[in-house]
Amino acid sequence: MSKDNKKQYQPDTNAVRLQMPKTDQMEHSSPMFLTSSFCFDNAEEMRATFADETDFNIYSRFSNPNVDEFVKKMCALEGAEAGYATSSGMSAIFAGFMALLKTGDHLLSARAIFGSTHTVITKFLPKWGIETSYFDMTDTASIEAMIKPNTRMIFVETPSNPGLEIIDLELLAGIANKHNIILNVDNCFATPVLQRPIEYGAHIVTHSATKWIDGQGRVLGGVVVGKKELIKEIHTFCRSTGPAMSPFNAWVLSKSLETLFVRVERHAGSALKLAQGLENNPHLLSVKYPLLPSHPQYNIAVKQMSGGGGIVCFELKGGLQQGVRFLDALELLSLTANLGDSRSIASHPASTTHAKLSDEERAIAGITPGLIRISVGLENIKDILEDIEQALEKSAQ
Ligand SMILES: *Cc1c(COP(=O)(O)O)cnc(C)c1O
Repeated sequence: MSKDNKKQYQPDTNAVRLQMPKTDQMEHSSPMFLTSSFCFDNAEEMRATFADETDFNIYSRFSNPNVDEFVKKMCALEGAEAGYATSSGMSAIFAGFMALLKTGDHLLSARAIFGSTHTVITKFLPKWGIETSYFDMTDTASIEAMIKPNTRMIFVETPSNPGLEIIDLELLAGIANKHNIILNVDNCFATPVLQRPIEYGAHIVTHSATKWIDGQGRVLGGVVVGKKELIKEIHTFCRSTGPAMSPFNAWVLSKSLETLFVRVERHAGSALKLAQGLENNPHLLSVKYPLLPSHPQYNIAVKQMSGGGGIVCFELKGGLQQGVRFLDALELLSLTANLGDSRSIASHPASTTHAKLSDEERAIAGITPGLIRISVGLENIKDILEDIEQALEKSAQ
């Protein structure tokens, strides 16, 4: 914590400065607490801690100083009351569903969501008697009619992965509040640097910290932040079921937050230049980026995001076969399943992550045969653009 707790700092200062209390070694950088459990001076202290009468750490499945430091920073950045960090983004999403939904409840989710989230919603939640349905993010007028008396949560990703669909969070929060429903927003693509869903009325915000928050492709992590009473349920579920974040990963991720603002600003600045540079490329049918005026929800992006993020999508004229040739023709960009790395990454969902779906399922998920997703890294934008341009040229033949 800062020496003077009364002074309120800006989010980018908090991302750098929020820190656990120094030990008597007076270290400048936070040490790593790789310990499964914590000691007590005597039986009475141990009894009181187990009875929730103190806030001492007991066991790293419940809490750990490195994990707490990471969570505190995420709460400050998202403007949230409380949070809990998990071993991956998926365990954060799963914990939110499990802790806040019960048999007989209905989950209303956007259709354009991350693949594994889709699997949890369609394959697992129904096993426990949780009803689910999908709405189309681009047809906001139809959402309210899909709410049922048992609807307990609305789940949405904006911008969505990989299709970059965007929804008006203020409008969605209005619907959720009117019907007393929890609004849960996966803010992975925007990060709190570019979009703070709680300011628009979201009740909880979920992240895969594996992506832009780590930013260097090293560790997995997830976090849920939001209203205290909801996070308490998630904490209670997680402390017994065990998807805790490792203290090592928390140490890495907390350090990563110190550079989040400078990184995301650079990623987003380069991504906009890439999108603009590719807009008139003769080998492309279309280019999609939140801050291109041609994006169908451009006006919403401008209203709720302070930058477009680091992902650019485009549609190749040559479809599936050109997609495969395009990946092979790249010289600089990495072919890998991650995104939000310092190194630029290209992916072709139709031949990889979404290859097992039928054509129809792919179409519903917005995955066209020639769709390429670029995660724009921290390299010089001239090199990123030139590599993509030469690969487009080579793969077009
Ligand atoms: C990657 C991702 C997840 C899952 O996160 P993991 O850390 O890989 O478990 C969830 N949502 C979105 C939008 C993602 O991109």
